[in-house]
Amino acid sequence: MRVAIVTVGDELLAGDTVNTNAAWLGRQLAERGVDVERSTTVPDRVADIASVVDEYRERYDAVLVTGGLGPTHDDLTMDAVAAAFDVPVTENGAALEWLAENGYARQDLAEGTADIPAGAEPLHNEEGVAPGCVIENVYVLPGVPAEMEAMFASVADRFAGTETHVAFVAAAEPESALIDRFAQLREQFDVQVGSYPGEHVRVKLQGDEERVVQEAAAWLRDRVDIVEEE
Ligand code: ATP
Ligand code: MG
Repeated sequence: MRVAIVTVGDELLAGDTVNTNAAWLGRQLAERGVDVERSTTVPDRVADIASVVDEYRERYDAVLVTGGLGPTHDDLTMDAVAAAFDVPVTENGAALEWLAENGYARQDLAEGTADIPAGAEPLHNEEGVAPGCVIENVYVLPGVPAEMEAMFASVADRFAGTETHVAFVAAAEPESALIDRFAQLREQFDVQVGSYPGEHVRVKLQGDEERVVQEAAAWLRDRVDIVEEE
């Protein structure tokens, strides 16, 4: 399963808010064996949101969009997703009913709170107010991390891929010095090798078979200056 993530918000582009949602979703999906192939951040502008959603819904099995829900002036995501599908937004009865059951009478809600694209399935917001939705292969989730995480949990089962296995090895050597061992590793074992330099080099080994990944990790640990096992 190939997926794209779209995070919406001027504050993400300006660096006022760190885009933890993209990282969190990327990790959740990767752990489910889903391939995250795009992660794009767009401003709070209908045309920009609509054009990436429209492009990605054709190219990927699913698109996850976060941010810009609710009724304030900069909350444009529902309008943009509706535009991408060429449908209007409409007040969703099931969303209103759920909100009423959870203590939010219609007259207490800001105008537009329960608006989602026509034909979409509402996703209830267990941690907040504004609903998300699913329309075909596009999932629209809130921007507030706790709300987004809870709502993703309600649809997480719909994201499944091939299970893969991962091992990390931390090497206390310059990355350039490891090139020869990376080449041998890739030749001898059916694993993908990721190399993430920082204070030390974090080497990520990933493959379909747990035994092969563990053997590759053991092989590498025997041949590098180890920092610690993660
Ligand atoms: P609300 O319904 O409360 O308006 P929302 O779904 O409209 O929420 P936003 O208005 O986009 O979400 O953002 C709400 C809060 O969540 C802001 O403080 C914002 O900085 C934060 N936020 C939005 N997107 C992200 C993100 N990708 N990573 C981390 N925080 C985010
Ligand atoms: Mg908002």
